Amino acid sequence: MSELYVVATPIGNLGDMSARALEVLRMVDLVAAEDTRHSGRLLQHFGISKPLRAYHEHNEGPQSDWLLAQLKDGKRIALISDAGTPLISDPGYQLVNRVRQASIPVIPIPGPCALVTALCASGLASDRFVFEGFLPAKSKARLERLSLFQKEQRTIVLYESPHRICESVADMLTVFGGDRNAVIARELTKAYETIHQDSLQALCSWLANDANQQRGEMVVLISGAPDEVEGEDGQAEIDRVLSLLLQEVSLKQASQLTAKIMNKNKNEIYKRALALKEQAG
Ligand code: SAM
Repeated sequence: MSELYVVATPIGNLGDMSARALEVLRMVDLVAAEDTRHSGRLLQHFGISKPLRAYHEHNEGPQSDWLLAQLKDGKRIALISDAGTPLISDPGYQLVNRVRQASIPVIPIPGPCALVTALCASGLASDRFVFEGFLPAKSKARLERLSLFQKEQRTIVLYESPHRICESVADMLTVFGGDRNAVIARELTKAYETIHQDSLQALCSWLANDANQQRGEMVVLISGAPDEVEGEDGQAEIDRVLSLLLQEVSLKQASQLTAKIMNKNKNEIYKRALALKEQAG
């Protein structure tokens, strides 16, 4: 019965451990865990005693070999991380990839995940979002990474360390502007849970003026860039401007002026002007 279970565990509140996660942890032959001492305490809390094997970012290669051999030998293994869903800014990708390539079933046991927990309570658009994990630690690299998202229209979700939160939010302000709406979701599911929304400018001051807000674990969510004038609304606006100008000046002048006003391609606008004139008869 070789099977690898990818088991989500709480991100703070032990009450979030699912019944199915417990059932699986009680049933497997061994548990691969990021930090065996930390996970040992978690299992102990639920009265579970299992052999634990360390699987972390520094030993993923060799440990994947060993765990794969155990699976091929018919063992059932659970992979857990220190908190939340394994593989989400946590180790496990190499193992899951190799286990699937060996045609051994990988069974996900869903549960807490900080990015989803933060997003669903943030009030920011959740129909489309991008998750970028942790930003680089150094400001230059961080600014470069953030600038890749300058025109991103989806909500941007990031993990950040408390030591860097102030510098990081200051860099976000540089890239996205002080008016952009953002949320800091801190200590989710724990006693000091705080979900605070404001402009990036105001968030910078809020953090700087209260050292408590710089503590603990945090997710940063940034509103996507506003829609550029395009799509149906944008086209309607182009047509409106063109039609008005066509009544006053020549087709060529109307096209040139509209292209300038709307910051659009001259030739495209000229073609549209011709079509409008034809329609008007
Ligand atoms: N695998 C985890 C998950 O499913 O969310 C994430 C692991 S990653 C190494 C740890 C980061 O997740 C923290 O630095 C923080 O950004 C975020 N995080 C984890 N628990 C959190 C919590 N309770 N509140 C806010 N952010 C949390």
